[in-house]
Amino acid sequence: MDLATLPSFTLHPHAAPRSANERAVLMEDPGFGRVFTDHMVTIRWREGFGWHDARVEAHAPFQLDPACAVLHYAQEIFEGLKAYRFADGGIALFRPEENARRFRASAQRLAMPQLPEALFLQSLDELIRADRDWVPEGEGSLYLRPFLFADEAFLGVRPAASYRYCVIACPVGGYFKGGKTSVTVWVSEDYTRAAPGGTGAAKCGGNYAASLLAQAEAIQHGCDQVVFLDTTERKWVDELGGMNIFFLLDDGSLVTPPLGGTILPGITRESILTLAQEAGHRVREEAYSFDQWRADAASGRLREVFACGTAAVITPIGEVKSASGAFLIGNGGGGPATEALKARLVGIQRGREPDPHGWVRRLG
Ligand SMILES: *Cc1c(COP(=O)(O)O)cnc(C)c1O
Repeated sequence: MDLATLPSFTLHPHAAPRSANERAVLMEDPGFGRVFTDHMVTIRWREGFGWHDARVEAHAPFQLDPACAVLHYAQEIFEGLKAYRFADGGIALFRPEENARRFRASAQRLAMPQLPEALFLQSLDELIRADRDWVPEGEGSLYLRPFLFADEAFLGVRPAASYRYCVIACPVGGYFKGGKTSVTVWVSEDYTRAAPGGTGAAKCGGNYAASLLAQAEAIQHGCDQVVFLDTTERKWVDELGGMNIFFLLDDGSLVTPPLGGTILPGITRESILTLAQEAGHRVREEAYSFDQWRADAASGRLREVFACGTAAVITPIGEVKSASGAFLIGNGGGGPATEALKARLVGIQRGREPDPHGWVRRLG
């Protein structure tokens, strides 16, 4: 789409933004996804009219008709990325063009209008500019949540004729409570997340809705996260509810399940594949079975396992539980290769290390 046809943003500043003191108190220990900044971005889309009414306005509740399509048929997609405060006070995003592209791919799968990538990127810039004081210093970051949903009031089953795009933001610390250094996962043998031909590769709320019961089962078994197997054979590891997974073997090779439509193509996953190769690992996108996982952990061939995604970055998996028993990975607490990859990735994201691939986008 031609840039000239994109709507321009109007600024409607919050009438009573929180004071510097209130903000400091809220940002002391924000947790994840509980504290929101003063503003949000909204853009509307209507059939025959396209994208319009782009605004930066006060973060506030929506008014929606109870017949609003998203409430009935879950036509909704989202993204998640972080803004980092660099040592010089500047602010940067990590590969936001990839989020913009994935947002369009998700929209395509859910039969929704595709937000032009330039408009997606501008929406992030506009919100960060309005709320730049909310980007934490130190190890925190500002988590950005763009999303798009069907807001047409109509109960017929078809793609809606009107949509709302919105970006909200929250200052965040670590994703796992208490700054856990490794997590325990539950391998679900009853529930699956995504089938071939389904929406597994799209970042849509519906995938999460389908994962919650398995996640609750994981918690009941004392685990932090759930691992899903493939729907056809219930044999191959797909991914976690909201993170991709990597296996490090004793020959230094790093294995992750291949993207095949049932796995979300994580930007962290893709970055790790590149960084691991540069660090001298042989990287293989290859199917890995739950049986193999158990056998390799027992034989010692498997050295480290970690989950990855924007929210939790890289998190070691220390223990694996399922209906058929439990086993440890190594000593149950991560390992040197995981740590090195994490340090390199975080170093780039926070502007402390060279960025040879041009992944960091600094805001003006
Ligand atoms: C968002 C997400 C990921 C991780 O993607 P990143 O781009 O690395 O944040 C992995 N799995 C699922 C199901 C997701 O929704």
